[in-house]
Amino acid sequence: MKFIFVTGGVVSSLGKGLAAAALGTLLERRGLRVTLQKFDPYLNVDPGTLSPFQHGEVYVLSDGAETDLDLGHYERFTSCVLTRGNNVTSGQIYETVLAKERRGDYLGKTVQVIPHVTDEIKGRITRNAGSGPSDVVITEIGGTTGDIEGLPFLEAIRQFQLEAGVENVLIMHVTLIPYIKAAGELKTKPSQQSIAKLREIGLQPQVLLCRTEWPLDLEIRQKLALFCNVPLHAVVEVRDVAHTIYELPLTLQDEKLDDTVCRALRLDTPPADMTEWRRFVERVVHPRKHLKVAVVGKYIDLQDAYKSIYESMTHAGAANDCGVDIVKLDSEDVTEENAAKFLGSVAGIIVPGGFGDRGIEGKLVACRYAREHRLPYLGLCLGMQVATIEFARHVCGFKEANSTEFDEKTPDPVICLLEQQKEVRNKGASMRLGSWPTKLVPGTLAHRVYGADQAEERHRHRYEFNLKYRPLLEKNGFVISGTSPDGRLVEMIELKDHPWFIACQFHPEFLSKPNAPHPLFKGFVAACLTGLA
Ligand code: GLN
Repeated sequence: MKFIFVTGGVVSSLGKGLAAAALGTLLERRGLRVTLQKFDPYLNVDPGTLSPFQHGEVYVLSDGAETDLDLGHYERFTSCVLTRGNNVTSGQIYETVLAKERRGDYLGKTVQVIPHVTDEIKGRITRNAGSGPSDVVITEIGGTTGDIEGLPFLEAIRQFQLEAGVENVLIMHVTLIPYIKAAGELKTKPSQQSIAKLREIGLQPQVLLCRTEWPLDLEIRQKLALFCNVPLHAVVEVRDVAHTIYELPLTLQDEKLDDTVCRALRLDTPPADMTEWRRFVERVVHPRKHLKVAVVGKYIDLQDAYKSIYESMTHAGAANDCGVDIVKLDSEDVTEENAAKFLGSVAGIIVPGGFGDRGIEGKLVACRYAREHRLPYLGLCLGMQVATIEFARHVCGFKEANSTEFDEKTPDPVICLLEQQKEVRNKGASMRLGSWPTKLVPGTLAHRVYGADQAEERHRHRYEFNLKYRPLLEKNGFVISGTSPDGRLVEMIELKDHPWFIACQFHPEFLSKPNAPHPLFKGFVAACLTGLA
């Protein structure tokens, strides 16, 4: 088994996760079995308790793990199956070490970062690798070289490299080559210094991935090679992709990154066959049709908060040969009075997931607009709860209907807490999480869209549809199109007199892939196109 570690230098947000994922794409298409994992040096046990303002989207795995959004890139760019162990944090490492200390596993010894914390980290590097057959394990180290929190991880990699053998380990450093306008020059010094930091710890990267706004000429490449101690062909230029992140594997292939990596790790494989991938990118870049879809959420200014939804729309757009322009609307700005101004020119509306009551009224307005104007609507998690509240209020006349999340004293709690959630005290990892089956009701739109009797979808929520209201709502044209197999939890809803209105309690956006778009997103885009025709 071969191990690739991806580190980052100079600044954060260089797209290390995407680079790791794109390398995964290339290696997989060379016939190798690839696993990706992320080690995050922060002390939170998982990102589940982090606000989107701090951390962007929380990506949920089938086993219910709440993970870093980079795991979303890993799953979308490769076919690897990720589990809880693929996102390790310092919080988890220390939690384990401290539990062992209390149990007496280290009895008599002083518990230290080296070797106890580093041993635990090393154990995690291979633990996943053992869970499925893989030829290459790519491990991304979160944060930036030089961060205090990152040191135990880098030290663990140093030890690991000695034990696994240098020919089995490759370090790829993602760095920034800034352009100084006044001097008209690209600068290599920050990269030299971040490599020097790695060398201080005993790590020598074999590949340098250089993020740059300008092409790297031969002179700059030679300078980087010399000062950073890497071969010239291992200095890889990565400029911003022109249209879509899915171009990245193609860009890296042009730079022969996969050749360099395979040569260094002595992996003898045929070149990567990117035909199908290239076709997908072609459809994203040159669609024949265009449409506008509104996403009405409260974290709309944050680029990363709805990442998987935007990606799912790209996949669904490509499948419909259609470019989707997302109109991002802050739900706090949308009111009954201005709804037409904001929503008058879109072909469909998505209300994504969320927590807390801020911006709820704007989401209700958007949902009502979709219902009344017969615009395709896709409600995701909170988007289903909002659709239920909206229907109860404006169609059934329960004027104060609400979720108990937003109004504990509402006379009509159409959405309320699950019985078992009432006992929950800890916020971390205590929601209904991960993959659960949904039974689809024959004859419904949902059943047609899936073309199946059952679906497995990922969840992350505490509140549920209140079954007490089922008969009343159904009498007025509300349709429950999917439930848990025992019928006790409502998973999907739709409206009888509406061309395309679907909302689900789960998150289909976590299961969409470039060449395998999720049926709900694909169906939604197709419905938006029909409306335009
Ligand atoms: N806040 C809602 C709940 O906890 C919805 C969660 C979500 O949209 N992910 O049930």
